Amino acid sequence: MASKKIVLIFPKEKIDKPIVYHLVKDYNLAFNILKASITPDQEGHMALEITGESPEIDRGIKFLKDQGVTVEPLSKDIKVNWDKCVQCGACVSICPTAALYIKDRKTMEVAFDPEKCIACELCIRPCPPRAIEVHF
Ligand code: SF4
Ligand code: SF4
Repeated sequence: MASKKIVLIFPKEKIDKPIVYHLVKDYNLAFNILKASITPDQEGHMALEITGESPEIDRGIKFLKDQGVTVEPLSKDIKVNWDKCVQCGACVSICPTAALYIKDRKTMEVAFDPEKCIACELCIRPCPPRAIEVHF
């Protein structure tokens, strides 16, 4: 059994199509929606974690791509602009998965582990210099 966190980007014409349920029905995959949104230009974004046998995950992702859905690894979504970061630590206490963490207790240096990030975006607003960016 394996799991993968991915971001799906649906073009406007596919938003209301029942595509994702095929992952369960045809590929025996379980999925957990971490986040979903529709942008003003009507593109749909969905972050989800899929679980199942590795070959089925690969086949399910190929199916999504064949449907015109863009599939990207979830870790690409949130980026910290370290040039802007002032190391205040405000994001660390708010991050539910410890993706943002104190790397060094002496210097209080903040670091980011994209593998742990679930793209909940809770860290965006509390960051004073707006150093945390969402990339879809
Ligand atoms: S988006 Fe959520 S999980 Fe990711 S770093 Fe920010 S607070 Fe943590
Ligand atoms: S809240 Fe922003 S400025 Fe403060 S440590 Fe986090 S990323 Fe850096």
